[in-house]
Amino acid sequence: KTMASRKKDGLFFCGEILDIHGYTGGYNITSALVTGRIAGMNAGAFAKEG
Ligand SMILES: Cc1cc2nc3c(=O)[nH]c(=O)nc-3n(C[C@H](O)[C@H](O)[C@H](O)COP(=O)(O)OP(=O)(O)OC[C@H]3O[C@@H](n4cnc5c(N)ncnc54)[C@H](O)[C@@H]3O)c2cc1C
Repeated sequence: KTMASRKKDGLFFCGEILDIHGYTGGYNITSALVTGRIAGMNAGAFAKEG
């Protein structure tokens, strides 16, 4: 939900680096933008907490 790594605090993933197995309908750019926004927002929140 936050695109955060489960193994490393403060590490977030988005876009092409994700190995998504599921229905994206070929909308990889959309997926990259959406996961990028989520990862960016949560990385910012994480940085503020620290
Ligand atoms: C030929 C082709 C056609 C496609 N057609 C479609 C389509 O029609 N519809 C669709 O939805 N998707 C399409 N895709 C997929 C879509 O383009 C990608 O899924 C999407 O662009 C991934 O975005 P990204 O930001 O994760 O990665 P990228 O767009 O690859 O961005 C990664 C960025 O990181 C930069 N970078 C790399 N290494 C470093 C470094 N060490 N330091 C700093 N920067 C670095 C790169 O220069 C690049 O700008 C297509 C892909 C290809 C190759």
